[in-house]
Amino acid sequence: MKRDSNSPAERSRKAKAAKLARWKAAHPSVSRGLLYRMDPTVELGAGMGRMTDLDRALWNMTHQWWLMSSRPLRRVKKSDLDAVVAQARTDIPWLAELPAQACKAVAKRYWQTWERCWSGVGGAPNFHSRLKDRPSFDIPQARDLNITRVSKKFATVQVPKVGKVTIRYHRPIPVGARVTGARVTNDHGRWTLALRVELPKPELRSPVESRPVVGFDRGVVIPLAGSDGTEFNHPDWLTPGEKRHLRYLERQSARERHARWDRSDGRGKGRIGANERKTYDAIASVQAKAARRRKDWHHQTSRKIADGYSVAVFEALRIKNMTKSAAGSVKAPGTNVAAKSGLNRVILNEGWGTLLDLTRYKMADNGGAVVTVPAPFTSLTCHTCGSTTPGQRKNQALLVCGDTDCGWTGNADFNAACNILMRAVSGGLVPTLSAGIVDDARSRYELEERTDAMPPVGTEAPLKLDGPGKRENRLGQRTVAA
Ligand SMILES: [Zn+2]
Repeated sequence: MKRDSNSPAERSRKAKAAKLARWKAAHPSVSRGLLYRMDPTVELGAGMGRMTDLDRALWNMTHQWWLMSSRPLRRVKKSDLDAVVAQARTDIPWLAELPAQACKAVAKRYWQTWERCWSGVGGAPNFHSRLKDRPSFDIPQARDLNITRVSKKFATVQVPKVGKVTIRYHRPIPVGARVTGARVTNDHGRWTLALRVELPKPELRSPVESRPVVGFDRGVVIPLAGSDGTEFNHPDWLTPGEKRHLRYLERQSARERHARWDRSDGRGKGRIGANERKTYDAIASVQAKAARRRKDWHHQTSRKIADGYSVAVFEALRIKNMTKSAAGSVKAPGTNVAAKSGLNRVILNEGWGTLLDLTRYKMADNGGAVVTVPAPFTSLTCHTCGSTTPGQRKNQALLVCGDTDCGWTGNADFNAACNILMRAVSGGLVPTLSAGIVDDARSRYELEERTDAMPPVGTEAPLKLDGPGKRENRLGQRTVAA
């Protein structure tokens, strides 16, 4: 149906939209999520679990309907989707337990997933699994929440159709923030309330001009090395005791799994029992703890970068390619499979993509910017003279320039960070650069004796990001399965 652009309804709609746009222009704001840990009682936890089940069921039904009705031509409109979801809620009695607003939110989220997919940002929506996806549900209307502080550390939040749930109020909602909704998530047994808020556009924390420009190399030995000599390190995400416990659980699950296969006596793999399931849950809960610590480090590090620098240059790593399995095919089996899979684990474990995303928005808030440059050879080239002599990268930690006139010797990650910064400067990506920064950092860095994490010269470190092997492979002189 074509809209009549002169009808009174249409004119009023346009006027409202224009008014909203004017208000938004006068009150610049940013959307943020505030996370609070929830402490539900057993009954309330079960009630929220029920809500997540309903949310997932509705999502899966919506997806099933989509697959049946819109495969060939993708003619379905947002309004069709809304109507179908609303109809489902009236037709299926048990679905009515999910509040109408939460149902609408499912349709909205489903449509948004498609829109992201069509614009090339994300993947197509898929069925949600009870075990593989984090269970969650929406509370779209902020006025339902009724957040009430009950003590210094705790507050309560009204979860529709479930009840009043205690949350740990570890930080107040900022002054001037407008809560627009919330999402409740169960992260392997830990309930989290994510408040969606609109904050007034934050003030710059310091003038942009007073902050230097920096390049960062993301490495395995040093997670983040800066071209000014700074390093961002973090401890292992799990303590030795937790690692021991995880290993114990993994062995236990393997035992239970093999026992199940033996019991089934060659007829399929059998049904996972309650005890085996418990072991898997315990493993997931330890891993979820590690993930939360990693995210915390990402938030703290990106905050420091955004506060300390005006422009941060990163290498544009294509993590997907880097972490491709080395196993190859049956015809052309890969070499060094175990080492590569170990490296894959290390790369994915760092979550570099997340760090970049977080730094990006914090930088933007603070008047700065994040720039990425192509990565090849930044870790093999001498940043002083530009020499690319093969073998000058002695190991993961050390680079000794192969050019006899230059002979620069120093930390390979620092060298790569300088190269990354200079690549952005020569590419015109960094508008202002005080020329002193790089030189100053270099002289400071060379004075320090770095004996830690540095194997004897001439020995090969087991993990290499851009070793000579990769380079030869790039030039087609040696076949290494990528
Ligand atoms: Zn050199």
